[in-house]
Amino acid sequence: MRTTTGWQATGPTALRRTSLERRDLRPDDIAVRVDYCGVCHSDLHALHAYDQHTKAPLVPGHEFTGVVTGIGREVTTRSVGDRVAVGNIVDSCGVCAMCEAGQENFCHAFPTLTYGGTDRQDGSTTLGGYSREYVVRDAFAYPLPAGLDPAAAAPLMCAGVTVWEPLRHLGVGPGSRVAVAGLGGLGHLAVRMAVALGATTTVVSRTRDKRDDARKLGAHDLIDSADTQHMAAARDTFDVVIDTVSAPHDLAPYLKLVAMDGTLSLLGYLGPVTVEATDLLIGRKKLSSAGSGGRPATAEMLRFCADNGVAADVEVLPSAQVDTALDRLRRNDVRYRFVLDMSDLD
Ligand SMILES: [Zn+2]
Ligand SMILES: [Zn+2]
Repeated sequence: MRTTTGWQATGPTALRRTSLERRDLRPDDIAVRVDYCGVCHSDLHALHAYDQHTKAPLVPGHEFTGVVTGIGREVTTRSVGDRVAVGNIVDSCGVCAMCEAGQENFCHAFPTLTYGGTDRQDGSTTLGGYSREYVVRDAFAYPLPAGLDPAAAAPLMCAGVTVWEPLRHLGVGPGSRVAVAGLGGLGHLAVRMAVALGATTTVVSRTRDKRDDARKLGAHDLIDSADTQHMAAARDTFDVVIDTVSAPHDLAPYLKLVAMDGTLSLLGYLGPVTVEATDLLIGRKKLSSAGSGGRPATAEMLRFCADNGVAADVEVLPSAQVDTALDRLRRNDVRYRFVLDMSDLD
């Protein structure tokens, strides 16, 4: 076993610095020195659900960047010193129809999650990127292209790819009309990516004070979702509506924004929803969702972001301030993603 240091949950709100064990490198593994790890809403949910008496250890973190420090004997395409990025999936069955299609995120045998997952070979619980070292199958680490800042790129690996896959698969490009509802970790990256793909992009937000932010991100317009007249005037005008609102909410106002044959992609809230069928019927509208990304799309997304200067707006904190980051994320007090600098774990 290899020993590293990380932040382990001691309860629903607190983490403590502790030493962790990583597996010895398998032939197709690499060891990664974690430099930057994003703080995702999923981390809050995992901590909230954590019961220290019954559960295996919890080390959150599933969007990180770093540098290769060791390679297994069968790894040929990578060298020590290469920059890499790792997201929220670190393995899959490799043989089901989803894996064959390059959609490992939908693996029928369930993808191995970066933390809180079960290792496919030894059955151990995976420990996440709030740590100084991670050992991962080479196939699930991605080259971090030159030109991408490693801190600002970390959130691309969860928030980024989650909005990238639907934008791509819904055919967003020049001439597309895209609306992004909710301007947080997911939403701000959806705006940047949609704009970079050539779409006319509009932010839909409850608060008018996001107008300047929306403009800075490159959005062409902002609709105040509380303004019923403005919402009514925008009816049937968007080919794609990316809904990143994380709280339970009524989909009807967003479905009304969708143009004929267009799609509402629900990404932020994954609980039960109620839909009036006529809101789909009128205009042949589609309701869809997505989450995370397969290996081909993840690699493509990183190249696209490097080529187009797309990255997250981040507030970087030393990892020792992880509790502060989580507290402030809980209160939505971040524009738009916290990233932990892991160098203080040395
Ligand atoms: Zn995440
Ligand atoms: Zn599979």
